[in-house]
Amino acid sequence: MAERVLIVDDAAFMRMMVKDILTKNGYEVVGEAENGQQAVDMYSEHKPDLVTLDITMPEKDGIQALKEIKEKDADANVIMCSAMGQQAMVVDAIQAGAKDFIVKPFQADRVIEAIQKALS
Ligand SMILES: [Mg+2]
Repeated sequence: MAERVLIVDDAAFMRMMVKDILTKNGYEVVGEAENGQQAVDMYSEHKPDLVTLDITMPEKDGIQALKEIKEKDADANVIMCSAMGQQAMVVDAIQAGAKDFIVKPFQADRVIEAIQKALS
């Protein structure tokens, strides 16, 4: 059965890029959220196997969303999506329980490698 992924990013273009990589590699995208609050709500609704979580978003950023998702489900598999220059926030995210991070612009093989590792 295909592993189920929730994609979170405030940029529709970024969500589309990630979705394209995932569906081409046999993953099922169960939802797309465009801010941290939606991410937390959709996590509860869909219980995905994995979340790709953007760091910089309006309303609630990825770090706060990560903390709330981990409070609901300590076993949640979350990969952070970061931009160049966000190393400090990536460190915060890893300490808060993120499994890995991918850096924009995304490279398909790196995205898939991170996801496979996080799910193994
Ligand atoms: Mg963003």
